[in-house]
Amino acid sequence: MKQSRRIRFVNVVGMAVLKINNSPKYVLEAVEKALASFPYPVCFFDKDDRALMCSDIYRRNFDAALKDVGPHIYEHDITFEELITARFQTIFTKGEAEKQIQREITKHNLKDGFIKDQELKGRWLRRVKSRSPEGHLMAANISIDELVHKTAKLLSAKQDMEFQALHDPLTGLPNRRALKMHLDTVLMNKELIDPVVVFHVDLDKFKLVNDTFGHDAGDLVLSEAAKALRSEVRISDFVSRVGGDEFVMVFTSLSDRKSIKSVAQRIIDKVREPIYYDGQPCHIGASIGIAIQDAVVDAERIIMDADIALFESKDAGRGCYSFFAPSQRLKHIESKQRIIEVREALEMRAFEPFFQPQICTKSGAMIGVEALVRWNHREDGIKLPDEFMPAVAEAGLSYNLDQMIIEKSLKVLSDWEAEGFSIPHMSVNLSSAILNRKNLTDELVALCEQEGVSPNKITFEILETIVVHEQNGIVQENTNALKAAGFNIALDDFGTGNASISSLRYLKPNGIKFAREFVQDIHKDPELELITGSLISLAKGLGMGILCEGVEISAERDVLAKLGCSEFQGNLFGRPMDKTDFQIWLDEFNESEEAA
Ligand code: C2E
Ligand code: MG
Ligand code: MG
Repeated sequence: MKQSRRIRFVNVVGMAVLKINNSPKYVLEAVEKALASFPYPVCFFDKDDRALMCSDIYRRNFDAALKDVGPHIYEHDITFEELITARFQTIFTKGEAEKQIQREITKHNLKDGFIKDQELKGRWLRRVKSRSPEGHLMAANISIDELVHKTAKLLSAKQDMEFQALHDPLTGLPNRRALKMHLDTVLMNKELIDPVVVFHVDLDKFKLVNDTFGHDAGDLVLSEAAKALRSEVRISDFVSRVGGDEFVMVFTSLSDRKSIKSVAQRIIDKVREPIYYDGQPCHIGASIGIAIQDAVVDAERIIMDADIALFESKDAGRGCYSFFAPSQRLKHIESKQRIIEVREALEMRAFEPFFQPQICTKSGAMIGVEALVRWNHREDGIKLPDEFMPAVAEAGLSYNLDQMIIEKSLKVLSDWEAEGFSIPHMSVNLSSAILNRKNLTDELVALCEQEGVSPNKITFEILETIVVHEQNGIVQENTNALKAAGFNIALDDFGTGNASISSLRYLKPNGIKFAREFVQDIHKDPELELITGSLISLAKGLGMGILCEGVEISAERDVLAKLGCSEFQGNLFGRPMDKTDFQIWLDEFNESEEAA
């Protein structure tokens, strides 16, 4: 009985101690902590006779040798001989030290005595038995069980903490810190045959799901996407979550571009499958940037390269993969810089609405304005949407920008009303981000109330491309609610989204805007005249207002008027202008109208 317990002691505690030799420091500390308050003088040594850890009582017994040693003996190379020598104040060789211990054991009549050099799974443990202060045998089995129990408890608490520190609680995947550790190890491994391949995966439209269905849906989508990524790769491949909707995967057994491409495509296809939240399908996608370790690189560098390649995939329209090329680096730095700049500009409210007049075909009167955003850049002056909208979208700030422009435009409209300027109507553009807001109509109605503007004076313009790409129903719900609240809806750049007829049925807008593509040189192009004319007839048949944009010359205007276009907008009448310039333009326009 006693024998079996003794073996258990060595097996359980001994293994715990031995295992820690190559384990994180926290494991060693846990055993050490459990052992510290152990009510007997116990010390563990490694195979080379260095002290690993001991109980406080042991420490006191060996005060002479241990007094200058900090809390962790294992951090010092204190050998068994040194300890015994210090205790007995005589110099011992290894053999003499053991004899001295043996003498102690005999002197105190300790039967079980000193057990040395027990082999465990190819490693060695030395356990020294000594006597308790009361003169009893120290290795009481109950206390040993207690030690094992205490160690296990401390270890599991510590391991939990360590697990948490290295894992993402939502998906259970390793986090960025763990990724870094993993990559450091992998990149150091000189025995790898295949290159190290890193995928930086970004979920497309995740923000949309979060904004549309709420955070619970967002969490579910993230967990499901994590599972999808895991399911598509081998157990030996590494999948981590490094940010909101960003994942990094590491492969060490993909040998050629063909297999890398096929894994990337498999992931894209899998993530594209709908995820159901509350019975409703949530559609997301994946964009992937791929970096292949070509020379000696560090972990940060390869992650960064994959991130840069990811930007290429996003630029290419998302839902695809791109391989890193060094030439992408400069472009990436510039685009990051633009994102920082637009964020600052938004904070400083440096975006302003400009106003472009809209003209009635029949009467020639100004019937409204379109508010068009401009960035009042402190160095470059006025910047056009093309120059900053992509960076705004990339930074996830489209909603904030729209909100600012709507607020400022409504304020101008209400100021004009107060100043006696007659602006019958104002159009404002909405991005996909704002159209996916849950309480959009309430927010916009509240803004109108705040500025004392009636909703029926406002038209919200929605790009046809948005209508085509957003099929989750929320855009339709929002447009219906906006119409019910008295706002008008116009389908912007009609005909450019490849779904003209279906988008009309889907959105049922009050009006349609034809982009310059359907206007430019129409007087010289009979085919274009036929196309634009048919589309105008179609819209008219559906009872919708028709506005042609980008009218630059009177010849274009005349053909469009003949085809039945009811309103015009374009440089022929007036360019987009700031508030003051628009007022001057309007005064002049009214004067010339009166004169005519
Ligand atoms: P859009 O809504 O279709 O606006 C019409 C664009 O045509 C404007 O470009 C306008 O300046 C331009 N334009 C007007 N007349 C002429 C003309 O005679 N010739 C030519 N070549 N162009 C003309 P802009 O201001 O650069 O805006 C580009 C696009 O950016 C807009 O197209 C709209 O989709 C978007 N945008 C502008 N402001 C906002 C905003 O506040 N919020 C959102 N979400 N999008 C906006
Ligand atoms: Mg527009
Ligand atoms: Mg347009």
